[in-house]
Amino acid sequence: MNLASPPEPSASRRRTRVVVVGAGPAGLTVANILRAASVDCVVLETQSRQFIEQRPRAGFIEEWAVRALERRGLADRLLAHAQTHAECEFRWAGERHRFAYGELSGHRHFVYPQPLLVTDLVRAYADRAGGDIRFGVRDVELHGIDTDTPAVSYTDPDTGERIRVDCDAIAGCDGARGVTRTHLGPERATVARHDYGIGWLALLAQASPSSDCVVFGLHPRGFAAHMARSPQVTRYYLECPPGDDPANWPHERVWAELHARLAVAGAPPLTEGRLIEKRVLDMHNYVVEPMSGGRLYLAGDAAHLAAPIAAKGMNLALHDALLLGDALVASCADGDDSGLSGYSEACLPRVWQYQEFSQWLSELLHGASSGVPFKAGTASARLRRILGSPAAATAFAELYIGKGAEV
Ligand code: FAD
Repeated sequence: MNLASPPEPSASRRRTRVVVVGAGPAGLTVANILRAASVDCVVLETQSRQFIEQRPRAGFIEEWAVRALERRGLADRLLAHAQTHAECEFRWAGERHRFAYGELSGHRHFVYPQPLLVTDLVRAYADRAGGDIRFGVRDVELHGIDTDTPAVSYTDPDTGERIRVDCDAIAGCDGARGVTRTHLGPERATVARHDYGIGWLALLAQASPSSDCVVFGLHPRGFAAHMARSPQVTRYYLECPPGDDPANWPHERVWAELHARLAVAGAPPLTEGRLIEKRVLDMHNYVVEPMSGGRLYLAGDAAHLAAPIAAKGMNLALHDALLLGDALVASCADGDDSGLSGYSEACLPRVWQYQEFSQWLSELLHGASSGVPFKAGTASARLRRILGSPAAATAFAELYIGKGAEV
């Protein structure tokens, strides 16, 4: 069944080759690749430019993704400004355990806040390359994805006019709450879901980082984490009940819990600061399989969600987008549809690798606070294995940094 709404005879009509729905890291990467190959496209985004350039989220980009962006001329500012991290630290049972994943894998993380990456990608596409992007659009609808002439319609925010853009293909890059995924109904795709039954209070503090690396605090009171974002801003996470109200976490309680859960002998003290973001994430994952149907191709969070346990979501979004961008160029410029027909199959092994790793890491990180002695025991065994066995350490390092995902 195609859930497309009936044709809209009153809409004014335009034509392009590809409509990209959503201007997050996935959509903007696809759009830049299309633009660089002179393939006409339009990007439709419900939010304003200012909003997407400030929305705080991810911060850790895996080296393979940075190199892929660099090869496409999209990483100049990132390479000039990002710090790199090659170690993380587990704090557990009152002790610190440094883990040098960069040495073991030969790859690093680049610490670059998502809003900066989005800003760079918008500038490259819209300001430098003159690409067509519509902000603040409303009521986006898809039409005829099973035909050779699919279309996307939307309401122009300034004029209220209904506009229909006919195209050859639609890139569904509208994130976890978008509309494109709903067009791959149960008759076309399965949605595999996993709910961790855990909440994380996601915090951004106006405070300089208190460690030179990611810190995972495995504590009976609940998991806690520290991640740098910039010299002035640090992300923290605190495990909490799913669905908890951020109002239950006033400034004093947040810092008291962070001190309690991250404290170990010899660790530098936490630098406190004003909390500029405080929201509860209910940790869950999903994967839509296949990631395409007809002339609609999903990329990023529209196709799969990875709770930020292992910092994988934006990296996966970039992986999809790089593959999709190249496949669309081959189809539109050379008439070669093999990349598009193999797109979902090419993405899904990486998607499932990252999902499996996130689940595995979640069990390690939340065992101590589970209240279940068996889970606590197996989580300890898992951590001891990574810290004690060179083979296990190398396998962990490669999964953590996503080695092998070169595009
Ligand atoms: P999005 O970034 O969600 O972009 C989708 C865009 O589509 C949005 O701009 C949205 O406004 C727009 N849109 C929505 N509906 C419509 C519509 N109907 N029509 C048009 N446009 C629409 N990942 C990592 O790799 N590393 C990390 O360290 C990390 N940390 C995270 C921390 C937090 C607190 C959170 C919440 C996430 C984190 N992630 C991390 C995940 C990462 O942010 C996402 O995976 C990433 O944003 C996915 O990019 P995307 O382009 O697929 O979707």
